[in-house]
Amino acid sequence: MNILILGSGGREHALAKKIAESTHCERLFVAPGNAGTAQIATNVPLSPTDFEQVSQLILKENIGLVVVGPEDPLVKGIRDYLEARPEHKNLKLVGPGKMGAQLEGSKDFSKRFMQRHHIPTAKYQTFTASNLADGLKYLESMSLPIVLKADGLAAGKGVLIVEDLEEAKASLKEMLVDQKFGAASTQVVVEEFLEGIELSVFVLTDGQHYATLPEAKDYKRIGDNDTGLNTGGMGAVSPVVFADAAFMKKVEERVIKPTIQGLHQEAIPYKGFVFIGLMNVKGEPYVIEYNVRMGDPETEVVIPRIESDLVELLLACAEGKMEQAELRISPKTATTVMMVAEGYPGDYEKGKIIKGWDTPTKAYIYHAGTKLSNQEVLTNGGRVMAATGMGNTLEEALKISYEAVNQICWEGITYRKDIGKDLQRLLVS
Ligand code: ATP
Repeated sequence: MNILILGSGGREHALAKKIAESTHCERLFVAPGNAGTAQIATNVPLSPTDFEQVSQLILKENIGLVVVGPEDPLVKGIRDYLEARPEHKNLKLVGPGKMGAQLEGSKDFSKRFMQRHHIPTAKYQTFTASNLADGLKYLESMSLPIVLKADGLAAGKGVLIVEDLEEAKASLKEMLVDQKFGAASTQVVVEEFLEGIELSVFVLTDGQHYATLPEAKDYKRIGDNDTGLNTGGMGAVSPVVFADAAFMKKVEERVIKPTIQGLHQEAIPYKGFVFIGLMNVKGEPYVIEYNVRMGDPETEVVIPRIESDLVELLLACAEGKMEQAELRISPKTATTVMMVAEGYPGDYEKGKIIKGWDTPTKAYIYHAGTKLSNQEVLTNGGRVMAATGMGNTLEEALKISYEAVNQICWEGITYRKDIGKDLQRLLVS
């Protein structure tokens, strides 16, 4: 079968590597892809939100399975677009339709969904410009810090955690009245702050049955010891020591099952990944957010731990046969360290020559923002590449990741030196 992956990040490279290993995969395409995916698949330069071009590519290359990496095409309705066309009636696609994608596309939608299905989450209310006065009053009733979330997609920047009441009021006004995040902040979710440790849980579902994939912890801030600005993610680890069997049982019973049953009861068809961002508050799970696709860089540690054939799992999902899917997970630990451009997540330069990315190493090197130019691999984004190590222990995996990172260089290469250190401390204590 010919397979198409949409996207261009480390997530898509990790998916591509695993899919290329499957005996079910004949030809693999990644659109638009990066210099890493070009080594194992055919890159096609198109935008995943240009549905007409995607449709033409599917027909031209006789694609049987499409895996949608990022959220944008899902929220914009790529599944609905392709399903409406008779020429794609045999196509299999991993990723929900527009309605299911609202779990990520609208924070108000996802909060209301959680409320309806009694899924634990932070207390909240949603406001628009027309009830700003009520919003300001609600802020006065809350304890600090307060979390303000733009309802729509804002490239991970639409969440503010505010320590001061006056600042919270000013920010709410800016978001609703001045449309600080454009149309994404026409509605704002005002939410109670949850104190705890975050965990990402991943599920592959056909809308009725599901398989729980390995969990992961990601490292969002740019600086060591979680300092500085938020990024798309600077590293990840799987498994996560505090996600023990007792905690994961609570996650399954209180979060995963009611989420899948909720989708089913509400007749929201859903074939794809669900990424559940959780806060572990004194051993109790609370949902922070849903995403309707895999995370990046979590995919770079979750996928290498899956021992089963990924294409078989993806087909089971797309064909509504998840109850027959067989998921084997490696007991090994996977760690990934993201290497980024100097200046990221602020302004940064592109086009730096990357050396050492192809030096043999025990790690997997997943490309993110890279491109090929005259036989050279150049930086082409903020997050550039990730080194994933697998080991029998966290320490061993980290050693493999960092050895690989030390072989790679370009002008301004930046990375965190403390990925997994917090978990190592938890293991010792
Ligand atoms: P991203 O795309 O980066 O995952 P997002 O814009 O979809 O982010 P959220 O995941 O809802 O938004 O929030 C971003 C981050 O803000 C969370 O990962 C978490 O660290 C923090 N956060 C969100 N809600 C809360 C909360 N209620 N209490 C404490 N921290 C929170």
